[in-house]
Amino acid sequence: MEKTVLIVYAHQSPKSFNCAVKDAAVKAFADQGCKVLVSDLYAMNFRAVATADDVKGKLKTPEHFRYNEETALAWKEGRLSDDIVEEQRKVQQADLVIFQFPLYWFNVPAIMKGWIDRVLTQGFAYSLQNLYDNGFFKNKKAILSFTTGGMESMYLPDGLNGDINVALWPLQSGVLRFCGFQVLAPQIFWSPAHAPNEARVALLEAWKARLGGLLDEKPLSFAPTELFDL
Ligand code: FAD
Repeated sequence: MEKTVLIVYAHQSPKSFNCAVKDAAVKAFADQGCKVLVSDLYAMNFRAVATADDVKGKLKTPEHFRYNEETALAWKEGRLSDDIVEEQRKVQQADLVIFQFPLYWFNVPAIMKGWIDRVLTQGFAYSLQNLYDNGFFKNKKAILSFTTGGMESMYLPDGLNGDINVALWPLQSGVLRFCGFQVLAPQIFWSPAHAPNEARVALLEAWKARLGGLLDEKPLSFAPTELFDL
């Protein structure tokens, strides 16, 4: 069956290394016969802030606005703003979601954090019964693919910045795994701006080689949910 890949992409420039990485993924998956969806967040001028504007119609408790409660209800009643609904439709179709971004302050850029905050609505992406191993997205895969300014040696456990895996825990476990995604090992492009062109070309070639088998990769392992009292 035809697979669908969604690339949530955050870079301002089509000349960037991130854009080249994104384009390589678009081509690789199109060549594999996949349907490829791209959410180019800056080009879409995607709104990053979670506010009452995300809900159509009357708020339940306007005197004390609670984003979580209001958007969960709006999701149930089909009253979320059109841009959120459009992104949720893409997620629903996707077998694999790739988050493509430059690392900003050990995290995703604000525009991508806004996508996470606004699109992964309670009820759609998780519920109190549907978390981690029981998450709604347990049949989908997700991967963080990103570039850094710092070198790999700076992100080792004894490096200046500390272990990159610590920085990635909130995203890989707190967001992706929380919603049930099978999380693939991150694709990290260390410091492309400070590498010679041949090294950048080699990084892209290695990515293209990985893309060939990405949909079939075994995900990272996390502690099984059944070990914890909920
Ligand atoms: P670019 O500068 O766009 O590209 C790098 C080079 O690749 C350029 O020379 C470009 O011409 C070339 N290139 C483009 N396409 C190709 C191609 N097809 N083949 C070969 N070469 C190509 N870094 C950290 O490590 N940790 C942080 O916490 C962090 N926080 C940041 C916070 C902010 C607000 C900002 C602005 C930056 C931060 N950075 C951080 C740095 C940031 O992560 C890097 O600047 C970014 O990852 C570089 O990726 P890029 O795509 O923007 O590179």
